[in-house]
Amino acid sequence: MTTSTFSPPTKLFIAGQWVDGPNKVTVRNKYTGEIAHELSGAGPDEVNRAVAAAKAAFPLMASMPIYKRADILRKTSELLAQNRAEIAKCVAREVGKAVKYAGFEVDRAVDTFRLAAEEAAQIHGETIPIDAVKSGEGLFGFWHRKPLGVVGAITPFNFPLNLAAHKIAPALAAGNTLVLKPAEATSLTGAWIVALLEQAGLPPGAINMVHGKGSVLGDVLVKHPDVAKITFTGSLEVGLHILANAGMKKVTLELGNSSPVIIAEDADLKAAAAKVAIGANYCSGQVCISTQRVYVASAIYEPFKKLLLEEVAKLKVGDPLDPETDVGPLIFEKDAIRVEEWIKEAVAQGATLLTGGQRKAGLLQPAVLENTKPTMKVISQEVFGPACSLIKCDTFDDALRQADDTNYGLQAAVFTRDIERVFQAIKGLNFGGVVINDAPHLRPDMIPYGGNRQSGMGREGLRFAIEEMTSIQTVMFRTGHSR
Ligand code: NAD
Repeated sequence: MTTSTFSPPTKLFIAGQWVDGPNKVTVRNKYTGEIAHELSGAGPDEVNRAVAAAKAAFPLMASMPIYKRADILRKTSELLAQNRAEIAKCVAREVGKAVKYAGFEVDRAVDTFRLAAEEAAQIHGETIPIDAVKSGEGLFGFWHRKPLGVVGAITPFNFPLNLAAHKIAPALAAGNTLVLKPAEATSLTGAWIVALLEQAGLPPGAINMVHGKGSVLGDVLVKHPDVAKITFTGSLEVGLHILANAGMKKVTLELGNSSPVIIAEDADLKAAAAKVAIGANYCSGQVCISTQRVYVASAIYEPFKKLLLEEVAKLKVGDPLDPETDVGPLIFEKDAIRVEEWIKEAVAQGATLLTGGQRKAGLLQPAVLENTKPTMKVISQEVFGPACSLIKCDTFDDALRQADDTNYGLQAAVFTRDIERVFQAIKGLNFGGVVINDAPHLRPDMIPYGGNRQSGMGREGLRFAIEEMTSIQTVMFRTGHSR
């Protein structure tokens, strides 16, 4: 595989041009605290120009033959693979994510664009048996899917490459155009995808990108009458704000979670402990499906605890650019301070800290708690940091009840070898995804992925995102003949 020394421009991308805006976005290396790069920042005018460019490019994209759209997506996938090392380093610097996991993120984006190219060729409708009713006699009917128009894509910091890919790739596969607003802290990773799409031959205006604060640019994009759809991944708070402001637009929201894991007494404890240790701590727990609440059968509580603590002790915390590192810093020091405070508050309220919790600037040692109460923040809210809690349960029913006792509903997991328990879990867990014998952070990129309750609305995953980024048009054709 060839490598490259290319780096994307630190500018806005509007109508096929890299341009400056009136503001500046400073991105720091999350481990050293040094300035990693400065980018041009947009104001409301640039958002409006970006939407106008996307609107102007829409007829061309909508009428582009599928094989041409698929070629661009496939080429982008290849370019992502060619630039894997550089992009992974960019993600590691901008997010603080350990470079080995940043590399997996690039691999997933490679897959996401490849799958989108394949999925583009599957977008189709069907004929309707329209003369099954008297009023349909003499009609021929079919439905098909049409692109919506301009899609506004707003992405978070934690998977800045692949979550942008999950919006851009299906939108383009379906013939839409886009305005991308990446998280400020990870702006250059967003620029990587845009620059590679440009290299892959995407026509000017088909994707546009504005950098800057969500609180300044977000409303302009979300309220814009020429934007047909908003697809957002981020916090519940911002998701609700977007929903209140979007008006008559389609909206997809991928929000937070407080992922539960159940360890039944028949589980493979060693395998479960290894998965939970990684699931709670990779990307410093800043994963929407990070393992947070671990409900453990009382019969195997002590041996599982011992195995988990052994696995957590193996995790190397430190410089994300070191290939040996498992856990880097949190995105900002204030977030590490918040998680540290939640842990201290839980301990003050009676919880026991079994390991970790020590903080040095943005780095937090992976923490494991026990003796928590359901009302503590580490249980009732999304921690979004390297901390999980062990909760002893006398019965599987009780574990299921507590696991499901949350306002969130993205993904949950159960470790068991008992098929009856598997089906009990499928029935009892009101989550968008249930994982058996692995941690909740599994997301192969074609699966229908999304949350119930306050974890969001709509589904991503190429085929499912395409459904949300197209509208169905029904055609009824009077022929004068029966079929
Ligand atoms: P965030 O909500 O703070 O920011 C996300 C994006 O929204 C950023 O681009 C930000 O600039 C923008 N934004 C901020 N204010 C806005 C406004 N008023 N209008 C429009 N856009 C605005 O989230 P974050 O801190 O970047 O990410 C962490 C959150 O994302 C966590 O809650 C996590 O669970 C969630 N998340 C969910 C998924 C999922 O697939 N369900 C995946 C990853 C992260």
